[in-house]
Amino acid sequence: MTDLTAALAARSSQRCELCEATTDLAAFGVDDGDTAELSVWTCSTCRDELAREPLDGAHWRCLSGAIWSEVPVVQVLAYRLLKQLDEGWARDLLDSAYLDEAALAWAQAGLESDDRVVVVDSNGTELRDGDSVTLIKDLDVKGANFTAKRGTLVKNIRLGDDPGLVEGRVNRTAIYLKTEFLKKA
Ligand SMILES: [Zn+2]
Repeated sequence: MTDLTAALAARSSQRCELCEATTDLAAFGVDDGDTAELSVWTCSTCRDELAREPLDGAHWRCLSGAIWSEVPVVQVLAYRLLKQLDEGWARDLLDSAYLDEAALAWAQAGLESDDRVVVVDSNGTELRDGDSVTLIKDLDVKGANFTAKRGTLVKNIRLGDDPGLVEGRVNRTAIYLKTEFLKKA
């Protein structure tokens, strides 16, 4: 037994830290970790389910225990799984759970790369920084007192935090445009 497996086996009382099963236990590294602080002691079922895309909610009901774990990495993994499930019971569990500030920041940091916001035009075509778009209807520009006409070409758009809006220049004025009224040029 390596130091890692010994540490995890002791910490978990030889049970899967996600579902409490005892079959074929092994370390599962979170964030590519290979230390006890970054590993969860898992059964073979949980490891199979962790690899499944999309996740299967039926198995992960077991997280109602794990989300309350006193081991930060277990809580972090449970939190990320529940977030990805995006089902009512999972959201309820997250609402009732308590993670301290550090654990919450850690859990959320791991989700951002998977949760990249995709901005799309009225046809569902992905838009990126620097793209050109045309307007598919006349738009009154609030505060600038002009109407951006249907068919206007807007070059070099910029994406922001809101996936429903992009920034572009019309009549030399920087304005926010609703993506539902744009078509990629
Ligand atoms: Zn398990």
